[in-house]
Amino acid sequence: MMEVRSIHAFDDNYIWLLGCQGHPEVAIVDPGDAEPVIERIKQEGLKPVAILITHHHGDHTGGIAELLARYPMPVYGPAKEKIRQLSDPLSEGDVVELPGCGLRLEVLDTPGHTRGHICYLGHGALFCGDTLFAAGCGRLFEGSPEQMHASLEKIRALPDQTLIYCAHEYTEANLRFAAVAEPENAQISARLEEVIHLRQRGQDTVPSLLKREKQTNPFLRSEEASLKQAAAAWSGQALNSPAEVFAVVRRWKDALD
Ligand SMILES: [Zn+2]
Repeated sequence: MMEVRSIHAFDDNYIWLLGCQGHPEVAIVDPGDAEPVIERIKQEGLKPVAILITHHHGDHTGGIAELLARYPMPVYGPAKEKIRQLSDPLSEGDVVELPGCGLRLEVLDTPGHTRGHICYLGHGALFCGDTLFAAGCGRLFEGSPEQMHASLEKIRALPDQTLIYCAHEYTEANLRFAAVAEPENAQISARLEEVIHLRQRGQDTVPSLLKREKQTNPFLRSEEASLKQAAAAWSGQALNSPAEVFAVVRRWKDALD
């Protein structure tokens, strides 16, 4: 059984540690900062065995050098991006086998936020960096809306019970936008209320279930008639495909951020 620990970094980043109960070996996902990771490793007597990177942004990679100086280990990451310390470049279909308790993760190419962004899938969990967020998705810094839409469709096709481990705690702001885009969606308003209470108590809202994302994340709902209508009204354009709806919903949220 995979066990995932969360580490908070910067204002709202999550760094994930993957391991198995009773085993000291852990893989570190997107260490933007080394310090909180080193602290946790020492506290719990863990043994880091790999770094897994989803994309090249500094808040996901900034801690690699310092971690490697202390703990020599392979650094897995996207083959299509320049990350200096990468030892094992990955792309769609590759499999990462972690030493320790036999964890095995498949690689999905999910371009859009960045050109070479990848996700790691295994043991009922998806580590999706800045591609899908709880109730939102990453901004399109390098990819096109069509690419991001295709990446999100790939995620949407995974089993409903998949746990979504994204790299930021943006859920409340995302749901506030979702409630604007889909004011009639009662599941969105219920989730927003729940998330507001969790955040007031300082609790995390990640991971989330993919099933819940399909119900409440507008970036996975481009086929919904009401969302399509709202996006068309906002943009003043007729929208002819789910990818076009996605593109407009993304622009709509960018305009409000
Ligand atoms: Zn990013």
